[in-house]
Amino acid sequence: MADIRLEGVGHSYDGGRTWAVRPTTWTWRSGRAYALLGPSGCGKTTLLNIISGLLTPTEGRVLFDGRDVTGVPTAGRNIAQVFQFPVLYEEMSVYDNLAFPLRNRRHPKKDVDRRVREVSRLLGLDPVLGRRSRRLDPGRQQIVCLGRGLVRPEVAAVLLDEPLTVVDPALKWTLRSKLKEIHRDTGHTLIYVTHDQTEALTFADEVVVVNEGAIVQAGEPAELFLSPAHEFVGHFIGSPGMNVLPAELAGGVVRVGGTAVGAGGELPEGPVRIGVRPEFVAVGGAPASPGAPARVTGVDRMGAYDLVHAVVGDHPVIARTEAGAGYAPGEAAFLHFPADRTFLFRDQVRCGSL
Ligand code: ATP
Repeated sequence: MADIRLEGVGHSYDGGRTWAVRPTTWTWRSGRAYALLGPSGCGKTTLLNIISGLLTPTEGRVLFDGRDVTGVPTAGRNIAQVFQFPVLYEEMSVYDNLAFPLRNRRHPKKDVDRRVREVSRLLGLDPVLGRRSRRLDPGRQQIVCLGRGLVRPEVAAVLLDEPLTVVDPALKWTLRSKLKEIHRDTGHTLIYVTHDQTEALTFADEVVVVNEGAIVQAGEPAELFLSPAHEFVGHFIGSPGMNVLPAELAGGVVRVGGTAVGAGGELPEGPVRIGVRPEFVAVGGAPASPGAPARVTGVDRMGAYDLVHAVVGDHPVIARTEAGAGYAPGEAAFLHFPADRTFLFRDQVRCGSL
């Protein structure tokens, strides 16, 4: 296992006109499970391919435990990879597919068998170990690929690019927890690419959020949820994402549409945007101080909770309330933005809190 360091690593596919990955310095620490999370086209696969050696970055250096591997191809990096769709030796049995990476590296026969059986048991592959891979459905084939990626304990990192795409949704939950179990057991460095926040948050020790080719924030799931450092993180994580409202800071007071909603601390005066998650907006019938008068425009009854849609002036805000809280469209309400959960943003970057 190795610390994998990207030093000023960037990649442009068009001679420097646009960046698929903007020059980035970042270290993936040995033994941690990372999710690389971002929307389609943000540069996740490009980053992963730079780590694996499938792609040489146009800028910067890649270091494995201090060793410069920038020009070293994948085969020289001791990396395991799992792709979006199953890639297997179809005529081989599941057992032989799992054993292949170990045999290839001349692991002793006894160790090969022990390790194959451990991984097979954890991933529920025991009943199909003797079966030819091509006889399995694509979901099962992909589980074999996961097993093959995880079977070698000594790899520098296991890179997984949207590995559960072809797996049945119900099975995804089980597999993610299995992956965590295997990770606890082997201590692999895992880098798991996904555009699905649930997948990232349930799987990773640390989630690295990427937007437009740049890492915008990295942290534990709770940190990203409770303390977004960038508007994008607020939008992208959460369902629905963070509310963002244009506001004005003057005389130390933050106003939305003329109504004071809190204090702006020592920040320079001028326009700001306030961000608050639906989970933290409190809705009340009577003025709360400080708070904003609002009008309810709709209510989504989600079963376990309600989502109250409202407007403050012209600005939409969603609040999550307990189920059956009784708000109705057209009603007047008062929204309270708690100071410790409401952040101020300028140029999309957090600059303070209420
Ligand atoms: P997805 O989840 O859709 O795979 P991604 O986050 O993995 O997206 P990348 O595939 O890394 O994103 O792509 C980042 C940017 O680089 C995109 O704008 C994409 O169009 C561009 N790109 C990717 N591969 C190439 C290529 N071979 N040639 C030119 N542009 C490319």
